[in-house]
Amino acid sequence: MSKVYFASSRIKKWKYADSMPGKLERLLKEINLSHYFEKNEWIAVKTHFGSEGAHRIVRPVFLRKVVDSLKGIGAKPFVTDTVRIKGLDYLEVANQNGINHLSVGVPVVLADGLYGNDNIVVKAGEILGEIAVATLIYDVQAMIVCSHVKGHIQAGYGGAIKNVAMGGVSSSHRHCGWKCGRGAMHTIGEGRLIWDEEKCELCYQCQEICPLEAIKFEDELFSYNEDDCWRCGRCTRVCPSGALTLPGDEERFVRSLAEAAKAVLSSFKPGKVLYINFLTEIQPECDCMPSADVPVIQDQGILISEDIVSIEQATIDMLLKAKPLPQSAMDELRSETDDILFYLSRKPYKLQIEEAERLGLGSKIYELIEI
Ligand code: SF4
Ligand code: SF4
Repeated sequence: MSKVYFASSRIKKWKYADSMPGKLERLLKEINLSHYFEKNEWIAVKTHFGSEGAHRIVRPVFLRKVVDSLKGIGAKPFVTDTVRIKGLDYLEVANQNGINHLSVGVPVVLADGLYGNDNIVVKAGEILGEIAVATLIYDVQAMIVCSHVKGHIQAGYGGAIKNVAMGGVSSSHRHCGWKCGRGAMHTIGEGRLIWDEEKCELCYQCQEICPLEAIKFEDELFSYNEDDCWRCGRCTRVCPSGALTLPGDEERFVRSLAEAAKAVLSSFKPGKVLYINFLTEIQPECDCMPSADVPVIQDQGILISEDIVSIEQATIDMLLKAKPLPQSAMDELRSETDDILFYLSRKPYKLQIEEAERLGLGSKIYELIEI
C-alpha cells in the first residue's frame, strides 16, 4: 500500500505555515526529498505551462516551493514542459503565465526543444506500439511531476497520468511524424479531419487555434495541410457545432494514456519520480485550451506520493466526494448519476487508472496521511 500525503485547502489559522505554499513546504518535508534525490542531481520539475488564455495552471509560487525544497537538499532542479504550440511562442506563454527563471528560481526549458522534435522513440504497448518521448525527460534521471487537476473533453479527467503521458511525449517525431507523437493517442487510423459543411457555422475558431496554421478557408470551404497536421485535436475541441471531427475511440484513448505514461517513465529507476497533484482551480477542460472556465469543484488541496496510481485514485476519490460549484459548467450539467466527473464529460475516465495499475505503474490501494 502506498502513502499519499495530503494538505487541505481549508485554512484554519491565519499564519504562513497554514497557507497553501506553507503546507506544500510541509508536505515536501514530510515525504523526505533526500530519500529520493541526491545532492547535485538534476531534477526535472514537470508541469504544464497552460495557454495564452488558460491561466488556471499550477501557480508559479508552488513551483518555486518545489524548486527551493530541492535546492535545500543540494539538488539541481529545472522547470520543464513539452512543446504544444510553436516552441518560442510556448515559452512566451509560460512567461505570461508567470513561469520564468525569475519567478521559479531556475531555468525554464522545453523538454523536446524549440521545434518539439527533440525526442526519442520508445517502446510502448499493444495500443501505441511506440511513442516519441521528449529527450530531456528520457535523459534526466529524476523528476517531480506537478499536475494541475481538471476535467478533460476526451479523457474526462486530467491529473498525473495525463501530465506524464501527453506531457512527456512530443507532438511529432522527425521521421515518424505525428504517428508516434501525441496524435497517436488522439486519433485512430490515418486520423484525417472530417469537415461537415452543413454543420459548419463559419466561426473560424478552428483556424485560429491551430498551432501550425494548417487550416484554411477559401470561399467558405475548409481545407487543411494533412502532412503538417499534428492530429492534436485542438480544432475539433473548439468547434461549437461538431462540424469538425477526428476519428477516434474514447476507450482506446483513455487506455493509451496509461500506456504512454509507462513508456515515458520507463527510463527512470524505481523511486526517482514523485508526483504532486494540485486540486486547485479545478476547471472543466485541459490547460491547453484557449481559455479556462470557472472552477467546477471547490479547491480541495495538494497531494504528494511516489505512486502515480495511488495519487490518481486518491484524487478521484476526493473529487467524487465534492459538490459541483454553483454557476459552473458542472452545475449546469447535473445529472442522475453521483459521478460528477462522468457527467461533466461522459468519458470512461477511470480506465486511465485501471490501465495504469494493470500495467504495473502502481496500486489503487493507498493510505491517506493528512498533515
Ligand atoms: S488537429 Fe487541427 S489544430 Fe491540430 S494541427 Fe491538425 S489542423 Fe491544426
Ligand atoms: S470551428 Fe467548426 S464551425 Fe467553426 S469554422 Fe471551424 S469547422 Fe466551422
